[in-house]
Amino acid sequence: MMTEAYCSECCERREMVDAVDDVMKNGRRTVKGKCPTCGAPVFKVVRSETTSTREQSTRLLANVTTN
Ligand SMILES: [Zn+2]
Repeated sequence: MMTEAYCSECCERREMVDAVDDVMKNGRRTVKGKCPTCGAPVFKVVRSETTSTREQSTRLLANVTTN
């Protein structure tokens, strides 16, 4: 999965590497990773209940049911 995040070192958006899902204390979902160019830690806040996540889980369920 490619996740873009803003790197404060490069001052540009990068496709983060070693992306890991994380949840903050306030319940917000984030993705933590590293900038592929300079290696600085970057993170991105994930909007809760995104449609893409729902679609993915729906698709997975559909696959299981079909098989
Ligand atoms: Zn960078």
